[in-house]
Amino acid sequence: MEKKKILNINDLKASINNIEIIKKLNLTINENEIHVIMGPNGSGKSTLSKILTGHPSYEVTSGSIQFNSQNLLNLEPEERAHAGLFLAFQYPIEMAGVTNFDFLRLAYNEKQKANNLKELDPLEFMELTQKLIAKLKMNQQFLNRDLNAGFSGGEKKRNEILQMLLLKPKLIILDEIDSGVDVDALKVICDSIIENIDKKTSIIVITHYPRILEYLKPDFVHIMIQGKLIKTGGIELVQFLEKNGYESFQ
Ligand code: ADP
Ligand code: MG
Repeated sequence: MEKKKILNINDLKASINNIEIIKKLNLTINENEIHVIMGPNGSGKSTLSKILTGHPSYEVTSGSIQFNSQNLLNLEPEERAHAGLFLAFQYPIEMAGVTNFDFLRLAYNEKQKANNLKELDPLEFMELTQKLIAKLKMNQQFLNRDLNAGFSGGEKKRNEILQMLLLKPKLIILDEIDSGVDVDALKVICDSIIENIDKKTSIIVITHYPRILEYLKPDFVHIMIQGKLIKTGGIELVQFLEKNGYESFQ
């Protein structure tokens, strides 16, 4: 049986402040696939993830993006989230005055509402969250603290994953989830992703470090240089890259 297409990016060009960053990018992702995007600093990896989630500073100048049979570019950022897109930020923001628990419950219930599903009261939501917190080996206290306020790098990343597991996305984008995270935390994070996501969920892993690929086994590896995916292959591309560097692709 043919797999269902979840994302289809066709000849995408995008700019910020009239500077073209994404230059004719093509990418197709089916259900239940893990795609890795590797590329030198400044090649446009984070830009791509921000465009997918609808960051207002970026302008798509041509091309199209289909997400789960919808025109993604017509959707507001929150509609994209409700439709099942999730970005784990490279640099999660801190938000004073909003507790992590309130933030997570609001995000969860908004998505439930948008999909005509049951919203949870604080007690029910606490029960659901506690199970995931235990799996992520996080401390309960994190729920009562302000969102990401004073969290260490690794704690912020775990909190992103907690949010992600609650929202049950169809497509997850992990933008350098491995930067600023120690090896043990990285393994906990990756294991809990694999164990807890839906079977059909797909993942885009943006990374510099092959280590994460020991835990999240990719189906496809893409090399991104200057706003384009210039090569696609399997895990052997990573080994080639380790030996020869990005120069060999240019
Ligand atoms: P990567 O994540 O691959 O390291 P980014 O997507 O963060 O790369 O950046 C791609 C390019 O876009 C870089 O050259 C960066 O300087 C440029 N860029 C990002 N944001 C802005 C901005 N607000 N104004 C101008 N250039 C930007
Ligand atoms: Mg980046």
